Amino acid sequence: MEDSIFTKIIKREIKSEIIFENEKIMAIKDINPQAPIHFLIFPKEQIETINELTSDNSELISQIILTATELARKYNVAEKGYRLVMNCNDDGGQTVPHIHCHLIAGKRLKWEF
Ligand code: AMP
Repeated sequence: MEDSIFTKIIKREIKSEIIFENEKIMAIKDINPQAPIHFLIFPKEQIETINELTSDNSELISQIILTATELARKYNVAEKGYRLVMNCNDDGGQTVPHIHCHLIAGKRLKWEF
């Protein structure tokens, strides 16, 4: 499998604004933010889409969500509100084939398609 943009960021081959990192997870600022706060939380393991997830990944998914909620608190948007999004494949709008959770906040979000 070819390295994704996120794997290249993990390997420090591409620069990014890293806001959180541990053994299994990284969070960065989105390069093209759709709101005042737009972070991406992803596993260091390169899993292409959420379709590939199994019960073996339960702990990982839990860590991704909990990291997002921690970041929401840290950046003072937990009370006002925020949105977590995971896109899957073309119709879902996924452009990077490495699962990631968007944390979007800092303005009143609409719901349009
Ligand atoms: P998705 O469309 O759900 O696959 O989301 C991919 C996200 O990655 C988009 O919001 C992009 O703006 C973001 N993105 C792509 N390349 C980079 C990069 N080098 N650094 C930070 N964010 C990126």
